[in-house]
Amino acid sequence: MKIVSVHEDVVPISSSIRNAFIDFSTMDCSVIAVVSDVVRDGKPVVGYGFNSNGRYSAGEILRRRIIPRLTAASDADITDPDSGELDPARVWQIVMSNEKPGGHGERSVAVGVLDMALFDLASKLAEKPLYRYLSDRYGDGEPDDKVFVYAAGGYYAPDKSLRDLQDEMKRFLDLGYRVVKMKIGGASLIDDLERIEAVIDVLDGDGSRLAVDVNGRFDLQTALEYAKAIEQYGLFWYEEVGDPLDYQLQAVLSEQYAGPMATGENLFSCQDARNLIRYGGMRADRDYLQFDPALSYGLIEYLRTQEMLAQHGWSSRRCIPHGGHQFSLHIAAALHLGGNESYPGEFQPTGGFADGAEVVDSYVGLTESPGIGFEHKAEFYRVLRDLHS
Ligand code: MG
Repeated sequence: MKIVSVHEDVVPISSSIRNAFIDFSTMDCSVIAVVSDVVRDGKPVVGYGFNSNGRYSAGEILRRRIIPRLTAASDADITDPDSGELDPARVWQIVMSNEKPGGHGERSVAVGVLDMALFDLASKLAEKPLYRYLSDRYGDGEPDDKVFVYAAGGYYAPDKSLRDLQDEMKRFLDLGYRVVKMKIGGASLIDDLERIEAVIDVLDGDGSRLAVDVNGRFDLQTALEYAKAIEQYGLFWYEEVGDPLDYQLQAVLSEQYAGPMATGENLFSCQDARNLIRYGGMRADRDYLQFDPALSYGLIEYLRTQEMLAQHGWSSRRCIPHGGHQFSLHIAAALHLGGNESYPGEFQPTGGFADGAEVVDSYVGLTESPGIGFEHKAEFYRVLRDLHS
C-alpha cells in the first residue's frame, strides 16, 4: 500500500445561526483526500476527512507542516511491519514530529482532519465499515448496532419567536429524536427561562429530554444564577457553562448544581481532558464528556483519552462527542460511547449522517459500506470527490 497523493481544500459551511458566543456566518472547514495506489472497480481507494463542524479550517497548518511530513515518509514508515497495512498510529507520530507539547489549538484540528481520512482509508482497504474495523482493532469486537443521538438546535436568530423555537423542536421530534438541545446565555435569564419552558411544553412537560448549552459564555456568578433557576426543570444536561479551560468554575458549579453537566467540546488534547477530570469536579455517575475526535488530534488521541478516563473510573458511556458527524458515530458504536450529537439540517454540506439515515426513538444505525460512508452523503461526497478527480 502506497499513498499516491494528498489533496486539501477549504469549503464554506456558512450558516445564519448564532449561539451565546459566536455567529456562524463565515464558518468554513478543511477537507482532505488521501489517494492510495490500491485500485478497486477501476478506481483508486481514497480516504476522506474534514474538521467537524463549528471550528474554522486549518489549511495553512495542513499545507505547511502536516501533509509535507506525511508525503516525505517512506511506505515502510506508515505501514505495520507485520501486516503491511496502513497504520494511522504510525502516521500520527510522523506528522507530530518536531511539534512542542501543549498549546493545542488549530494544530489539533489539522491533525484530526488527516487522522479521519487515514481511518477512512484504512477501513476501506480492510473492506469493513469503520465501526467494525475499529471494534475489531481497538474495541471488544462487538460494536453497538445503533447509537443514541440528540438533536442540537435552538439557536438564536433575529426575530425568532417562542413559537418558531417550539416549531423547530417539534420538527426534531417528528424526525425521530426524543432528546433535544437549545442554546441559552445569549439573552437575559428571564427570556431564557421563558424559552426553556416553551420547549419543555413541546416535550410533554419532561425537562429530562432537554439539554441547554451556554457555549462557554458565563462567569461563575452568572453560571450559579442560572444553575439555581434551572435546577427545578431536571434537565438532560447543563453544557459548557464557563470558559472551557476554567476548571475551577466547573468544580464550583458541580458543588452547587445537582443535575448532569456536560463539557469538553473545546478541549483538544488528552492532557486537557485529564485536567478537566482532575480539577473540574466532573462526576462520573452523572456528567457527560463531549470531546470531539475530529477537533482534537483524531482517533489516535481519542483512544489515549479513553484510556485516561478508564484509569479515572469513567465509563465510555459518559462520552457523547460534539460535532454531529459520521466519524464520531462510528467511534461511538465501536467504543461503546453514550451517543453522538446531531444537527439536523445544519452546517451543510458537512453536517449530519448518511442521506438515508433514519432516527428511531433517538437512535440511528451505521452505514455498512467500507469506511466512514461519506459516499452515502451525496452533496458532501461531490465536494470530497472533486478534491482529487
Ligand atoms: Mg456545545
